[in-house]
Amino acid sequence: ASAQIGVTGLAVMGRNLARNFARNGYTVALHNRTPARTHDLVKEFGHEGDFAPAEAPEDFVAALERPRRLMIMVKAGAPTDAVIEEFAPLLEPGDMIIDGGNAHFADTRRREKDLRERGIHFVGTGISGGEEGALHGPSIMPGGSTESYASLGPMLEKIAAKAKDGTPCVTHIGPDGAGHFVKMVHNGIEYADMQLIGEAYQLLRDVAGYSPAEIAEIFRTWNTGRLDSYLIEITAEVLSHIDEATGKPFVDVVQDQAEQKGTGRWTVQIALDLGVPVSGIAEAVFARSLSGHSALREASRHLAGPKPAPLSKAEAGAFADRVEQALYASKIVSYTQGFHEIATGSEEYDWDIDLGEVASIWRAGCIIRAAFLDRIRAAYDARPDLPSLLSDETFAQEIAAAQDDWREVLVAATRQGVATPGFSAALAYYDALRAERLPAALTQGQRDFFGAHTYRRTDRPGSFHTLWGGDRSEVEA
Ligand code: NDP
Repeated sequence: ASAQIGVTGLAVMGRNLARNFARNGYTVALHNRTPARTHDLVKEFGHEGDFAPAEAPEDFVAALERPRRLMIMVKAGAPTDAVIEEFAPLLEPGDMIIDGGNAHFADTRRREKDLRERGIHFVGTGISGGEEGALHGPSIMPGGSTESYASLGPMLEKIAAKAKDGTPCVTHIGPDGAGHFVKMVHNGIEYADMQLIGEAYQLLRDVAGYSPAEIAEIFRTWNTGRLDSYLIEITAEVLSHIDEATGKPFVDVVQDQAEQKGTGRWTVQIALDLGVPVSGIAEAVFARSLSGHSALREASRHLAGPKPAPLSKAEAGAFADRVEQALYASKIVSYTQGFHEIATGSEEYDWDIDLGEVASIWRAGCIIRAAFLDRIRAAYDARPDLPSLLSDETFAQEIAAAQDDWREVLVAATRQGVATPGFSAALAYYDALRAERLPAALTQGQRDFFGAHTYRRTDRPGSFHTLWGGDRSEVEA
């Protein structure tokens, strides 16, 4: 027994994580349901480090030094339960099972509780960065016991991405499902970021009249400023790519129906349960689902729209600058909503998540990595109980500076009939938060009228009901 860690499930993610551990000097036990994958890994990459391949689960477990660290990288859902049930009986108290798949945090809570009762630490771990990240350094979001992090953390810190200041992009997020919860919201924010970038692209194309190649250049310029991020960078790459078969821009030959695997949807479902307004993330999920309704879209093609009024060359440049402002302001709002969901989840489940640390470990390795996250970390470090990112003075000032352009962009989008659900939802959230009075007062009046649901008054405590069907006098409820 000489392996410090074992990985079972050697598809793209597991294979690359195993190699990452080995490249960092650890002996890695290997296992996969189909043994061919295990042997292929050793054949192709055996020279990269120390691997201990095993075919039988018993041999795999026996190869691990104690306390055992057994990482599962299989398909999320039922396969993860099956693999846990296969290995748990072979483990001893104090051993660890690390699930690095995209599990739902509620499943992680259930599994953690069950294994804790059997003396085994269960570390539900969010991992972001895709295939490349897994190999060269992902952002890692482990949940589970403090004790398990003490044993596993140093190894994760070795294989994780490093932020520019050298900090590893991993931290103990909190107990049981905390890690997978944070990974879920990470993905929700990723959906929102992608949707906002998509809207910026569509506006630059349809309103400003730029070609995909020109838009790629605009994104490259933006990527040298405050929008500096992985997603902006790859957007420029995708937009400048030419399809070999047709010679057309790649983006024009791809079907415009976005797919999804579910983590964005979970973020919204859980936000609904927790009562957290994540309107930008929700719009991003809905935008993907709308794009897939081809029959509905086909049937709607004849619907009337405004007359196109293309901008002049000179106007287009100024418009592009405005779109940058709108994108940046909307991005602040999506992160505000995402961090609100994490803060609320943390409270609901008693996780005590450090929001500044979350921003810190998203600075490298993961899909939403961005220069901007440094600033979010600074905001939470300065004030850990910040009620909302929008309460941070710097972000508030930046939005204040961007808002005129943000509004102008939405005026142009509306006038020219370009759908911008992400930008619009972000601005609506911002304006609603700013508002002195919301129409919610009227909503309460309506609810009291038809259902005697009662209301509270601004001028004295208590709950009240108006006798709408009678003399309309007010009674204390
Ligand atoms: P897949 O999700 O495609 O899963 C394939 C692996 O699961 C194979 O090793 C397969 O074994 C194993 N497996 C499936 N069902 C069972 C079962 N019933 N019993 C035992 N083993 C089973 O692999 P990925 O590498 O793409 O992803 C692994 C995990 O990481 C997933 O949970 C995924 O959501 C998550 N993830 C993926 C990312 C990505 O970019 N791909 C990013 C971050 C997380 P066999 O070879 O025998 O079929």
